[in-house]
Amino acid sequence: MKQYLGYVLSGGLLIALVALAAIGVFHSDRLQSFTSHPVGIMGTDTALTVVVRAGETSVARSALEAAEKTLREMEARASWRMADSEIAHLNAAPAAKIVPLSVETLVMLRLARDAADATGGAFDVTCRPMIELWKASAQQGSPPTHQQLTAARATSSWDQIILGPAGAEKTTDTACVDLGGIAKGFAADRSAEAMMRLGVSGGLVAVGGEIRCFGRHDGRQDGWRIGIRNPFDPNSPAMLATLKLAGGGVSTSGNYFRFVEIQGRRYSHIIDPRAGDNCGATADAVPSVTVVAPDSTTADIWATALSVLGLAGLKRLPAGVEAMIVTGGPAGHQQHSSEGFGKLLADENKGM
Ligand code: AMP
Ligand code: MG
Repeated sequence: MKQYLGYVLSGGLLIALVALAAIGVFHSDRLQSFTSHPVGIMGTDTALTVVVRAGETSVARSALEAAEKTLREMEARASWRMADSEIAHLNAAPAAKIVPLSVETLVMLRLARDAADATGGAFDVTCRPMIELWKASAQQGSPPTHQQLTAARATSSWDQIILGPAGAEKTTDTACVDLGGIAKGFAADRSAEAMMRLGVSGGLVAVGGEIRCFGRHDGRQDGWRIGIRNPFDPNSPAMLATLKLAGGGVSTSGNYFRFVEIQGRRYSHIIDPRAGDNCGATADAVPSVTVVAPDSTTADIWATALSVLGLAGLKRLPAGVEAMIVTGGPAGHQQHSSEGFGKLLADENKGM
């Protein structure tokens, strides 16, 4: 188990953890923290931090192991890239075949389905054929036509998937899902819960831009400090803003690192799945969205959804969920926040 003197997440992440100084140093209340960075999970960087009472090294080790194991289990269930995952089986299944699914996968699918309703269809994991079409079009070098996107949209929707008590059934062969907009946040929550079950004092799980933190932070500040990077200057040590949280989920979605380029134009990896005139238009008007919610799953969903909905989406946020949207470009950008977002900022940001 490695100890670090502090870290900033790298590798294209829009969120950085800052001010995690003096990790491993004993404090007046004698807490100690340990951090690991398991690799090869969900195609992104991860960071696990656990806070324990001084000397509880074996508890810390067990918690980090349990958290990592949980992340890998979640990936093995939800990934569409892994040929043997539950989601791969569901996607490949013909109509009218019941595909057995674990409780976790079913919970995730139900949350995703509810989110499609709550976001007016802006968050829709059944839009996978449209995502595939964008990828194929990028390889061919020309954007998909509206007609192609509409046709792709018709091949998969929540109307074509029935969620049962122990599995799911499709009503068409073509229906399929892509949990890329929820699985990391969901995995971060389950991973944090695995730490909590071992009685640790606090912890943080970061999977790419999805973060879940809880309990005690052993640093000098009270609360977890999470920096939001400037999407137009992501390597700068100067953060756009720094959050100070007692716990909860934080998610940043943006098109500054993940996009396809077709004929010199950038298209976001997030697409607008809503049928109609906007069908398939990429959500490239929103360079960066950060959402803070009670849990990481909710933050993950809404960060993706707001990337589609834009500023109008701020009004749709459920109670207890706050967001900041960055618009504009490298030459000048604007920050737009929901009403309660300012209260989550660390003191040095107040008045931004
Ligand atoms: P995130 O980085 O959390 O915003 O998730 C982006 C990923 O979610 C993409 O790479 C796709 O796998 C998937 N996705 C793209 N657009 C949507 C959408 N409108 N609703 C749900 N998932 C989406
Ligand atoms: Mg998301």
